[in-house]
Amino acid sequence: MNLHAARIHQHSPGFHMGTRFEGDRLRRFAAVRPHADRGAAALRADHPALQTGRTIFPSTVRTADDAGRIFVGGHNNPKLGARVQVGPWRGMPIYHLTLEERATCPRSCHEWATCYGNTMHLAKRWRVSRDLLTFMGDELLWLRGKHPHGFVIRLHTLGDFPSPRYVGWWSMALRLLPELHVFGYSAWPDGHPIQQMLERMNALFPQQSFIRFSRRQPSGQGFETTTIWRRAGAAKRVPEGMICPAQNGRTSCCATCGFCWHPALTQVPIVFMGHGRRSRGSGP
Ligand code: SF4
Ligand code: SF4
Repeated sequence: MNLHAARIHQHSPGFHMGTRFEGDRLRRFAAVRPHADRGAAALRADHPALQTGRTIFPSTVRTADDAGRIFVGGHNNPKLGARVQVGPWRGMPIYHLTLEERATCPRSCHEWATCYGNTMHLAKRWRVSRDLLTFMGDELLWLRGKHPHGFVIRLHTLGDFPSPRYVGWWSMALRLLPELHVFGYSAWPDGHPIQQMLERMNALFPQQSFIRFSRRQPSGQGFETTTIWRRAGAAKRVPEGMICPAQNGRTSCCATCGFCWHPALTQVPIVFMGHGRRSRGSGP
């Protein structure tokens, strides 16, 4: 990873934040409240975004040439939170990275048509390129200097790991930067080279890497999530696993929960309740 000092300097600590939630926070939160109508949340099968594999908000996709920080602070995302409050990563600040949904994802994703990105018209999505990886490396080095006791990156607010090379880049970063911790989800199916590399990354960095696999039904293999499209009320658990506590009001955000990356919970599937658009349509 090369340090591009000029670009880091450009990212003054007053920060230009890529994804703005202020002012729209309540409306956005309401827009993504869990609900049970998968049909209403799905794009029509003939929607171009489904056919070509892209976001329905193409004007939000940015290249690495664009000015702005790539990793955005969790304080800008009410679902994440600013700093971990519990568990082994307590005290670490949270950042997140947003890629383009569908363009970086397997077409086998069970939520291809109902992707939660369909509601995120404000999110700034980064196009993956060699330059983006270079700039991300710069920022990780800068974050290491800023947070010598560790920091967390959520991979990814939108999107997935687009290639084996991209997974290899993150493995290298975890090896070079013990301060770096990552958590997130991938829809790549069992046995795919990307899924296998992610499993190896979790195994190689058991304190730093917690990438869970999104499956239609939990299989008992560990590191799993699934999405249900039915009402679960205030239940802590359903047959598929443990409901994400931030979705049923038992905690406020990932920073106050930490289940997804707690080493004692890797065998417990996390269950997300479907959320997204409430009325079917062809989209933008
Ligand atoms: S993998 Fe995630 S981001 Fe990609 S299409 Fe599926 S739900 Fe959306
Ligand atoms: S289970 Fe906890 S850590 Fe995982 S997504 Fe939900 S709030 Fe975040």
